[in-house]
Amino acid sequence: AAAPSDSPTIFDKIINKEIPATVVYEDDKVLAFRDIAPQAPTHILIIPKSKDGLTGLSKAEERHCEILGCLLYTAKLVAKQEGLDDGFRIVINDGPKGCQSVYHIHVHLLGGRQMNWPPG
Ligand code: 5GP
Repeated sequence: AAAPSDSPTIFDKIINKEIPATVVYEDDKVLAFRDIAPQAPTHILIIPKSKDGLTGLSKAEERHCEILGCLLYTAKLVAKQEGLDDGFRIVINDGPKGCQSVYHIHVHLLGGRQMNWPPG
């Protein structure tokens, strides 16, 4: 896994349409697109268009409260759009021990199969 840093990531290229992604939702603040290596039949990443220092949840400041809420609300909208009416899983990996690999905060939306707990 890459060391945590505030450098641009592959997600900036997706936001700027420099590399393709299957976008399922977009507004002025957030972008949602399908994960390139899906871990479930539905696996979508929800990210802020402006990182604003939010490399991961552990870097959140009070100014980020609104965008953090938008990410979760978007997850709900996309879950509905994807027909995940029987349930879904939201994940935010943080830091090396959380298996975070891209240092631009993102919410994973996983569904379309039974999710297990504990996750391991
Ligand atoms: P993390 O491990 O940081 O929580 O999640 C990063 C996610 O980004 C991984 O699930 C990985 O498959 C996904 N990912 C990495 N590069 C790309 C890419 O270029 N396009 C898309 N759509 N997903 C990517």
